[in-house]
Amino acid sequence: MAYSNKARGFFANELTGIREAGTFKEERFIESPQAANIKVEFPAGSPPKEVLNFCANNYLGLSSHPEVVTAAHDGLKERGYGMSSVRFICGTQDIHRELEEKLTKFLGTEDTILFPSCMDANAGVFDVVLGKEDAMIADRLVHASIVDGMRLCKAQLFNYKHSNMEHLEEKLKESQDCRFRLVITDGVFSMDGDVAKLDEICNLAEKYDAMVLVDDSHATGFMGKTGRGTHEHCGVLGRIDIITTTMGKALGGASGGCVSGRKEIVDLCRQRARPYLFSNTVPPVIVAAASKVLDIISKTTDRRDKLEANTVFFREKMTAAGFDIKEGVHPIVPIMLYNAKLAQDMARDLYNEGIYVIGFSFPVVPKGQARIRVQISAGHEQAHIERAIAAFTKIGEKYKILGKKKNEIIDMYGL
Ligand SMILES: *Cc1c(COP(=O)(O)O)cnc(C)c1O
Repeated sequence: MAYSNKARGFFANELTGIREAGTFKEERFIESPQAANIKVEFPAGSPPKEVLNFCANNYLGLSSHPEVVTAAHDGLKERGYGMSSVRFICGTQDIHRELEEKLTKFLGTEDTILFPSCMDANAGVFDVVLGKEDAMIADRLVHASIVDGMRLCKAQLFNYKHSNMEHLEEKLKESQDCRFRLVITDGVFSMDGDVAKLDEICNLAEKYDAMVLVDDSHATGFMGKTGRGTHEHCGVLGRIDIITTTMGKALGGASGGCVSGRKEIVDLCRQRARPYLFSNTVPPVIVAAASKVLDIISKTTDRRDKLEANTVFFREKMTAAGFDIKEGVHPIVPIMLYNAKLAQDMARDLYNEGIYVIGFSFPVVPKGQARIRVQISAGHEQAHIERAIAAFTKIGEKYKILGKKKNEIIDMYGL
C-alpha cells in the first residue's frame, strides 16, 4: 500500500496543526444564487439562514443578473457546453475572439488574450515576457498568483516596500544593468482596498526605461469614471504595458482571466504562455455571459455609479457610528479590530444578525491587524446597507468599541 499509515498520520497531523493554530478555513454552503440576499447553511448541517452578503467580489451585482443569465443560456444553446480542446488545436470559437476584442476596447489596450483564470494569466505571462537577463520589480504585497507566476520565471526578482516610491526608485537603479525591467503591482490591494500609485509608477518606469504590469482584478469594471480600472482612476490610460485581470469578480463573477496590453506581448503569449497552450480556456457559456457583461457596462456607468454611491454612504455612516475604518474610495472597507478573536467573535455575531461578513487575521493580514473586511456591491440597495450599519452598530456597542481609537481597542482586547 503506497498510502502508508506514516503518510496518513503525517497529513492528519498537518490538519490538526492548522486547526490548533486557528487558521482552518471552514467552507459555508450557499443554497441560492450569488446575490445580495443569500441562503447559507452554516455550520454545516444546520438549517439554511437568510443573510445579506457583504463578502463577495460581486462588485457590480452582475453575478446573477437576469440578462447575464439569459446570455449564458443562449451561449450554451448556440455554441454548446465544452470545447474539448485547447485554443490552438480546435478550442477557439468566434465568440472567444469577440470577447477578446471587447476587453481590448474596454481596457483601452492594443490586444487581449483570454486565460482560464487570472491565476493562469499570471502563471503564464512573466515567463513569456522576461528571461534571465531581465528583472521583475514587484510591490511586496502583490497577489499570491503573481508570486507564483514570478517563481516560474527566470528573471531576477526585486521587491519594493508596499507602495513606497522611493524604494521602487532604488530598485530601478539597482537593476539598471538588466536588459528589460518590469514593474509589477496590483491595481487595488485586496486586504486594505488601497490603490497603487500608478501615476508615479508610470513616471518612474518611463524615467528608468521599464515596463509596467498591473493586475487589476479588484478594479476592472468599476474603478475610474467609466469603470475601466485603476489606470483610468489614476489617469494613466494607455501607459500600462500589461494588464492582467479576472472575469471572476466584477465582470459576472464566473471565471476566466486575461492578459491585455501591448500587441506583440499578447501575440507572444499565444505562442508561449503555458496555461494558454496546455489548458482549455473559458467555455462558451461563460464567454457569452462575460460578453454581455461588457455590453452592459460599456453602455452605461449606472452600476459603477451606484457602487460608488453605496461605498461613500457605507464609509461615511460607519465612520460616524464610531468605527475605525481604513480610509479610501474602494468598495473593500476594512473595519479595523486588531485582535483576531474580536474579529472572529464580531463576525459570528453579525452573522447571527443576518449580516454575512468574514473576520481576517494572521496570516492573511499582518499580526495585530485583524479586521472584518466588508465588500460593498451595486447589488445592495440602500435598505441593505442600512441594515448592515445597524447590525454593526449593535454589535459594536456590545463589544464597547464604538468611538474607540486603535490604542484603546488594543488596550481592551490585546493583540
Ligand atoms: C482574485 C484575484 C486573482 C485570481 O483571479 P481568478 O480569475 O479567480 O484566478 C488574481 N489576482 C488578483 C489581484 C486577484 O484579486
